[in-house]
Amino acid sequence: LSTEIPYSKPSITKLELDLVSKAALAGWGNRSNAFVSQFEDDFARRIGVQYAVATSSCTGALHLGLAASGIGKDDEVILAQSNWVATIAPIIYLGAKPVLVDIEEVSWCIDPELITSKINPKTKAIIATHLYGNLCDLNSLSRIARKNNLLLIEDSAEALGSIYEGKHAGTIGDFGVFSFHGSKTLTTGEGGMFVTNNESLAMNVRILNNHGRDPNEERQFWPSKLGYKYKMTNLQAALGIGQVSRFDELVNRKIEIFQNYQNLLFGVKDIKLNKVRINCSSGYWMPNAIFSTNSGVTREQILEEFKNNSIDARPFFWPLSNLDFIPTIEDSPVADDISKRSVNLPSFHEITDLEQSRIVKILLKLLNKNKDFLA
Ligand SMILES: *Cc1c(COP(=O)(O)O)cnc(C)c1O
Repeated sequence: LSTEIPYSKPSITKLELDLVSKAALAGWGNRSNAFVSQFEDDFARRIGVQYAVATSSCTGALHLGLAASGIGKDDEVILAQSNWVATIAPIIYLGAKPVLVDIEEVSWCIDPELITSKINPKTKAIIATHLYGNLCDLNSLSRIARKNNLLLIEDSAEALGSIYEGKHAGTIGDFGVFSFHGSKTLTTGEGGMFVTNNESLAMNVRILNNHGRDPNEERQFWPSKLGYKYKMTNLQAALGIGQVSRFDELVNRKIEIFQNYQNLLFGVKDIKLNKVRINCSSGYWMPNAIFSTNSGVTREQILEEFKNNSIDARPFFWPLSNLDFIPTIEDSPVADDISKRSVNLPSFHEITDLEQSRIVKILLKLLNKNKDFLA
């Protein structure tokens, strides 16, 4: 049996280890927020946004952002069917109603053409998730949001380093959120970031994330409203500071890994990878291979073959309305179809060319096996 290939694995160097040690030894008392503040500043500067608030997860950042924007009971929020559950959960936490929309065939992101018919007086926001590093059609979404007075929120958990017409993903809508989960391009183990150019929104998020305590309140232990607690620790922030300083290295390696898959699959008509929108570039968090309908290859076949070869590949996200606890039932032919014939390919920083070749050989073998079978 050949050695195991994981699906993701962070790249941690001595730089990060030294910073974490420093935080563990000195990040207390009056320095108990020093690493968190620096991480926020470094991250904001790196992606070109004015305000950043670090959180314990991207889910928390989204929950805070929606709450600070006043989203609540009976409001409706539009998002794509192909999403991780983290994007829909905070909408439900707040008593609002998620409204699910199918994806575009090419970008795998929310299809703007399907949004207008879902808008009614209760609609308050659109969440644009940039799936697997691919970018949403932000120009169309901004136009729809502006025209209907809706918030545009960018779930950029998977889009670190993706650039839309010269601007970093996450900095274009009313606010953006990022994830630093261990599987993401930049990691703090668990962690997230809320970003915006709106000063009062940033302040509201900060207050909500500190149990509703306003920094201008003179009384100690006197929250001015009911808040939340999704704060990041100094230890995680120290790791994050090291990772942000390696931003280009981490993103460029993702791009290199993607390009290597692309080269290995050059000329193979029946397998397609992530596509980049015009005037945009991708941070390629996750290469995703889609088999053509003609090939007859299914998600189950792909996952089984990988498993037999000790390779940890993952399925494309299931359409959210398939989940038992999601209240809406919506048709999403594109999201359904794509998820049935595609798979995420391993893309961790230290993957070798040989490992990538091994992975591609399996993809090709599946294709040929099915061809023989069909013929
Ligand atoms: C990873 C991810 C999240 C959640 O991030 P956490 O930090 O685990 O809360 C949210 N949205 C998308 C699209 C993700 O991929």
